[in-house]
Amino acid sequence: MGVLALDIGASKFAAAVVGADAVRADGIGMQLRHITRIDVPAGEVWAACRSLLTRVVELAGSDDACGGAGFEVTAVGIAAAGPVDRDSGSTAPLNIPEWSAGFPVVDAVGELFPGAEIHFAIDGAALAAAELRVGGLRGVRQGLAMTVSSGIGGGIVSEGRVLLGRTGNAGHVGHIVVPGWDVPCACGGTGCVEAVASGMSSVRWAREQGWAGATGAELARAANSGDRTALAALARAGTALGQAVSAAAATLDIDRVVIGGGFAESGAPLWDPLLAAVHRHARLGFLRDLQVEKSSITEGATLVGAAALAR
Ligand SMILES: [Zn+2]
Repeated sequence: MGVLALDIGASKFAAAVVGADAVRADGIGMQLRHITRIDVPAGEVWAACRSLLTRVVELAGSDDACGGAGFEVTAVGIAAAGPVDRDSGSTAPLNIPEWSAGFPVVDAVGELFPGAEIHFAIDGAALAAAELRVGGLRGVRQGLAMTVSSGIGGGIVSEGRVLLGRTGNAGHVGHIVVPGWDVPCACGGTGCVEAVASGMSSVRWAREQGWAGATGAELARAANSGDRTALAALARAGTALGQAVSAAAATLDIDRVVIGGGFAESGAPLWDPLLAAVHRHARLGFLRDLQVEKSSITEGATLVGAAALAR
């Protein structure tokens, strides 16, 4: 049996297969092989996605650790940036205009691999599945997995399972409205935490204040070297994230929040204000023991989650 994982992300598409050596002795590991990434193309989006999948399956077919020439795709796990529609198996990511009316990704992948089981969820749900299986939410009954990178997303663990919601979009924590910043959001609303605190939004704000860099990683490096504007940008982002985490924790009655994604790697300039804001806002008695920590899954968490969905 061959499992293929696909992550349709906010800035990259990624695909991988689960190797024959997938499950470690402890039964929880998941070894992804031939992880291949491409930037989200500006046009011909499905054509680019299809050739990514074809390439990864070809690589698996020439690798004995994946079954070699016998590698046959029997299941595909797809994690997609949302909003998604689980009933129709389609997605309309905010960052892909070509798919704004909803692209039927389940049907398209199904045509490529006839007979394979296709499992489909929003990327936040896949992230929660990954944290539940191999990350910081192992053994947790009520928890939240978040990603903070170019965008902000999340997935909810409820009663030890990933909560999908009515249409498959539960866990859209990036669109929790945070007080104090009336910033327009790509969703059409204003004041969403994604519009304030994502890597991209923080870079935009810092540049408006005169900072000259271009990426979230550069912003983090500048802040950690003491650049005042960069420090202010990360303090702003951390505070907004702490507000959103507190709102989600109170709503969901959770005991652990795990935050991953590239921008979450920004260190103390982001995390100190984040934890201070959680301390300031999460005051209800049942939130006294709330744990907020950085994800231990350093690479491809959503892809791991997509594979977990398919297994
Ligand atoms: Zn929004």
